[in-house]
Amino acid sequence: MSDNKLISDGVNVKSHRLSKKEIENNFSDLHAPLSAVEALIESDRCYFCYDAPCTKACPSDIDVPGFIQSIRSDNLTGAAEKILSENIFGGMCARDCPTEELCEQACVRNDNEEKPVEIGLLQRYATDSVLSSGVKLFSRKKETGKSIAVVGAGPAGISCAHRLAVLGHKITVYDAQDKPGGLNEYGIAAYKSTNDFAQQELQYILDIGGITIKTGMKLGNQINLEDLQEQYDAVFLGCGLGTVNQLNLDNENVSGVIDAVEYIENLRQIDSKDELMVGKNIVVVGGGMTAIDIAVQSKLLGAEQVTIAYRRGKNIMAASEYEQLLAKKHDVQIQYNVSPKRLLSENSHVTAMEFDVMQSQGDGGLKASGESITLKADVVFKAIGQKLVTEGLNSLEIIKGRIVVDENRKTSLTKVWAGGDCILDGNNLTVSAVQDGKLAAISINETLTQGV
Ligand SMILES: Cc1cc2nc3c(=O)[nH]c(=O)nc-3n(C[C@H](O)[C@H](O)[C@H](O)COP(=O)(O)OP(=O)(O)OC[C@H]3O[C@@H](n4cnc5c(N)ncnc54)[C@H](O)[C@@H]3O)c2cc1C
Ligand code: SF4
Repeated sequence: MSDNKLISDGVNVKSHRLSKKEIENNFSDLHAPLSAVEALIESDRCYFCYDAPCTKACPSDIDVPGFIQSIRSDNLTGAAEKILSENIFGGMCARDCPTEELCEQACVRNDNEEKPVEIGLLQRYATDSVLSSGVKLFSRKKETGKSIAVVGAGPAGISCAHRLAVLGHKITVYDAQDKPGGLNEYGIAAYKSTNDFAQQELQYILDIGGITIKTGMKLGNQINLEDLQEQYDAVFLGCGLGTVNQLNLDNENVSGVIDAVEYIENLRQIDSKDELMVGKNIVVVGGGMTAIDIAVQSKLLGAEQVTIAYRRGKNIMAASEYEQLLAKKHDVQIQYNVSPKRLLSENSHVTAMEFDVMQSQGDGGLKASGESITLKADVVFKAIGQKLVTEGLNSLEIIKGRIVVDENRKTSLTKVWAGGDCILDGNNLTVSAVQDGKLAAISINETLTQGV
């Protein structure tokens, strides 16, 4: 667990920039949930397409028209069952999926004249109803006598564990952190996952039984891959990306230059967000979802000036147009085509950051134009991607810093599967991690029950 005071106090870095009440209001749900009437009206907008493009666009294969039809006939349990049987984290994905790039982007009603069917909000309506009533949708098959170790209690690991538990296997999940949940608990923006939703959903999933969670257990430290392979019938690795990329600039360790993921972790765990130290002028380096999340959350905490500095152009940015607009709506400035050059500091605290203005080359490369800009900053957030910690994973095939798997999420080792952010070609979304865990569980089950 990290330190809740990552930045030292200073003239421009302080807590209580806004009142507790203002912060509570700012961090309420990004999208208000649908009422029963709204859900009925929205479900009626669906054409129930035969060859549903929305389902094809869903990384976890949810039968979208099927669950919308169930909502339309007021069968919320049936709707939730259709969602959760494919994606056990359907509740979190309804909150954090970039639907504007996935199912809703593909919806046939998404054209210039109309908006797509609100698939994400309908999914939330159905799954919330089951989670709050506690209706049990799944039961376990007869015990198989097989036991599987899962490393990582994030969406990939827990999705794998749940499917295997349903199939009658016994699962032990090991996680390095104090609390299970992975980035659902420690990373997703607080305005997407409110009211301790990650733990509520996790509890619902674990109620299936047959899953033991052991926290404070780190692979490469308290446990190792060789022992797990010996002790269990199969191993699933869902350990995510444990460390972050650095700017590699002189001065990078001065106060005020912070890893965005670590700050978000504190923001998600602290009891009173008004106690967080917040800068006045903030620069965020990066162009993905983490950059947008930290920029918007900084504004919601009361920062005055927040600028995202991204080295390429608007259309290449990993954050979608929707996310870029969300940031701009919160008064975040986005400075495109600038690359970090130098950190300026006084009394060991950052005061500004200088950037080279970049030009795109024909071959996709970038070249400094010779011009530079300087942005005032009392806090600089690094949001330039995460890396796999390969310690303890040396016996596996690793390419470009990620674990190599086949289409069944099987690694180069006979008894080991992997999924989520830690694998090569993973697309760093909750929904994809959940799908990886599910596919690996199906493959593990097939392997363990062959000839039975
Ligand atoms: C700030 C941030 C915001 C994001 N926002 C979104 C979003 O809005 N929507 C979206 O779809 N995706 C988002 N993502 C991406 C999404 O959170 C990840 O793709 C997803 O959580 C990956 O799941 P995972 O199970 O592979 O890894 P994780 O969620 O990272 O879980 C890995 C687990 O493994 C544990 N672990 C790590 N190393 C070890 C070890 N050596 N031994 C034991 N346990 C270990 C960790 O403690 C953790 O619990 C965001 C990511 C970040 C960083
Ligand atoms: S594409 Fe749109 S209209 Fe067609 S089934 Fe999917 S949600 Fe309904």
